[in-house]
Amino acid sequence: MLVTLRPDADVRAVEAALKGLGQWTTRLRDADGTARGLRVEPHSAPASIEVLRALPGVADVWRAPSPHPRVDAQAGAAVPLPGGAPLLVAGPCSVESPEQALAAAALAAGAGATALRGGAFKPRSSPYAFDGHGRAALGWLRAAADAHGLAVVTEVLGEQHVEAVAAVADVLQVGSRNMQNFALLRALGAAGKPVLLKRGMAATVEEWLLAGEHLLTAGAGTVVFCERGVRGFDPETRNLLDLGAVALLKHAYRQPVLVDPSHAAGRRDLVVPLAAAALAAGADGVIVEVHPDPGAARSDGPQALDAAALVALTATLEAHR
Ligand code: PEP
Ligand code: MN
Repeated sequence: MLVTLRPDADVRAVEAALKGLGQWTTRLRDADGTARGLRVEPHSAPASIEVLRALPGVADVWRAPSPHPRVDAQAGAAVPLPGGAPLLVAGPCSVESPEQALAAAALAAGAGATALRGGAFKPRSSPYAFDGHGRAALGWLRAAADAHGLAVVTEVLGEQHVEAVAAVADVLQVGSRNMQNFALLRALGAAGKPVLLKRGMAATVEEWLLAGEHLLTAGAGTVVFCERGVRGFDPETRNLLDLGAVALLKHAYRQPVLVDPSHAAGRRDLVVPLAAAALAAGADGVIVEVHPDPGAARSDGPQALDAAALVALTATLEAHR
């Protein structure tokens, strides 16, 4: 916000009055050094423009136009998945076989999940790592979900896969590595489906919101923001779960938000406590990796919940209902 000052304003008094309302400001000066206005810093408290305008010495208050009006317009939207909050989306990192998908779907449904996740097209850091069974796995995923009455969330890795994935998925996932792949966001948005937009591992909140704006501009349904941890400095955990961003998106921007504690922690024993923290920060639910036999998983085994860990997750989610 920008506050312009009356010519006779006592600048210090205006600053003090604004500070009293939780508004932290920086002076905007003319070439001759005279303070003509104040810029309200983004970490200031929410405030009514009318209240600020009525302060002595204030000429006017301007709210800068938002760079992401379509994201702002979806404030208050629910996560477009069946079930009440807190939502649980669960499933394997990668869809490995029809049997594995079915067993994972049974685990997910048993834990109270309403949607099955699983990658058919997998982004892998190494070109030699298993990168998914592709189109065949989409069919296995859908069949497993249908057998347990679950919705499907799965990643679209490239523009060439949008049509195939959109034909089976209820929510299209954009992976962290693709958050700013604008050609993909455009193609995926045009499918008109809801999107789970994972945060880029080094993306600012503003860049994340703007990626959401790209999707909505292209025609996407509701964009759900998914915090999955950002690059930290400490390899003890795989990523650094940014719960400040979760609270900001939920409480300030009122966006639909899911948290992925699995890719944040990178280790099974921390997934449930981080899920609890995510719900406390305001998340609408969590998306976690589960595997019927984590030791045999072809990707992300160390972070996959097994049947026993799922019981603890279910109890945590129940405590928030
Ligand atoms: C995933 O959810 O399968 C995944 C690859 O996660 P991310 O994009 O957050 O790394
Ligand atoms: Mn994974």
